[in-house]
Amino acid sequence: MSVLDRLKDAVGAKGFSTDPSEIAPHLEEWRGKYHGHSPLLLKPASAADVSAALRICHETGTPIVPQGGNTGLVGGQVPLNGEVLLSTKRLNRLRGVDESGMTCTVEAGVTLAEIQKCADERRLLFPLSLASEGSCTIGGNIATNAGGTHVLRYGMTRALVLGLEVVLPDGTVLDMLRALAKDNSGYDLKQVFIGSEGTLGVITAATLRLFPKPETCVTALAAVPSPEAAVALLGAMQSQTGGLLSAFELMPRIALEFVTRHIAGARDPLAAPSPWYVLLEATGGRHANLAATFEDALASAVTAGLVTDAVVAASDTQAAALWKLRESISEAQKREGASIKHDIAVPVAAVPAFLAKATHAVLEVVPGARPVSFGHLGDGNIHFNFNALAAGNDPAFLALWDEVQQVVHDIVKEFGGSISAEHGIGVMKRDSLPRYKSHEELDAMRALKAAFDPKNILNPGKMIPPVLRL
Ligand code: FAD
Ligand code: ZN
Repeated sequence: MSVLDRLKDAVGAKGFSTDPSEIAPHLEEWRGKYHGHSPLLLKPASAADVSAALRICHETGTPIVPQGGNTGLVGGQVPLNGEVLLSTKRLNRLRGVDESGMTCTVEAGVTLAEIQKCADERRLLFPLSLASEGSCTIGGNIATNAGGTHVLRYGMTRALVLGLEVVLPDGTVLDMLRALAKDNSGYDLKQVFIGSEGTLGVITAATLRLFPKPETCVTALAAVPSPEAAVALLGAMQSQTGGLLSAFELMPRIALEFVTRHIAGARDPLAAPSPWYVLLEATGGRHANLAATFEDALASAVTAGLVTDAVVAASDTQAAALWKLRESISEAQKREGASIKHDIAVPVAAVPAFLAKATHAVLEVVPGARPVSFGHLGDGNIHFNFNALAAGNDPAFLALWDEVQQVVHDIVKEFGGSISAEHGIGVMKRDSLPRYKSHEELDAMRALKAAFDPKNILNPGKMIPPVLRL
């Protein structure tokens, strides 16, 4: 029997597809940068199915690529070399919620939006929040250690995971679904799989931390004269609200213009244009008088010249409209045309100097490119993006991607930053990793990969750069 037939047998009739029209959507990703091909889509419905499939792949040396919602931005989920594709779409059960312990256990293919809804219905909060939340899965979020807009208060996905169920490349099932805040009984193995981009094991289920649902939420859009003012505003608002900020997102004027131009119903809520804006959110309990504290703090910031104008949402609808401005930036940028993107982090206080230096350096390479640098200033994470000089497709501009990326990443390194704050390495940044990470660190990563996946069958060619022998 062929390997593909053995795999089909292992997962049963509902557990696979060879229909090209069903496989096709799994082969393209959101940015249209990577295109894959695969002879077989596996759709296991249990950890036992995943285990059976991986055992066969391990035994026969058959490469396999795990995929969740296919919203990853670095090509990690795409079978670029005709690998078998393993979709988690049928691992979609909610296994249980512990309301008093504030945890839930879900299978890997459950979408982030479904988990948020499940928590919300119980007056609880699952704080991970991304623009792709309707499609991305918790398995993918964990595999990429996703960030998003509420990291400032709640941390990255890593901080939200208490337990994991993982199938190793040889089919061994690791049941680590413990709902414990404290567990120092040996290596915390789950951490190795969080952010491993599908290279060390297939995550089949997770136990997640939930939080009390905030009773009060204050949202504002503030016009600020500069990134320096935005950083000062962050410090002022954090200290005056006692650390209750849950989001602090920076946007340049051009991002707001793209959104109001391309996204139906979006409008600029402030009277005069400003070079920069910050979307701020603070949350707390019902009796915390948070709104008054927040507005006093904003008024002080106006007096101090950190803020030139601001609108505080008067209703949930208005707050949603402000969030829509921020969350539509990627989509609006896409509709505007060609763009070169980076997902970098530097220490928060260094963001203004980084923006100045790196923007100048990119404009030397591509005069006239339009900087659209926005993102999670509260985490020092900027989506340092550039649109081409004019709207529309521009292959000549996109051909400069690697050159521009290297210029930007070299400056990131100077500032002690990271070339991937939240999207991961995948294939997009794999080959540039040795320029920014030490040999020693890369060798330790390779040793870990070899220990878990000695035959290199699980998502081969992703994240870990090959050893270059000169
Ligand atoms: P996929 O894209 O399917 O896979 C991503 C990686 O995880 C691949 O390497 C894959 O092999 C691996 N993988 C998937 N599932 C498993 C599993 N069960 N076990 C092992 N490995 C697995 N990301 C952020 O961090 N912050 C953002 O703010 C953000 N905003 C975004 C906005 C938009 C509009 C889009 C399109 C994407 C955004 N992303 C963001 C990126 C993306 O949504 C995240 O990386 C997300 O976590 C990927 O989840 P997924 O289920 O789609 O995974
Ligand atoms: Zn982001």
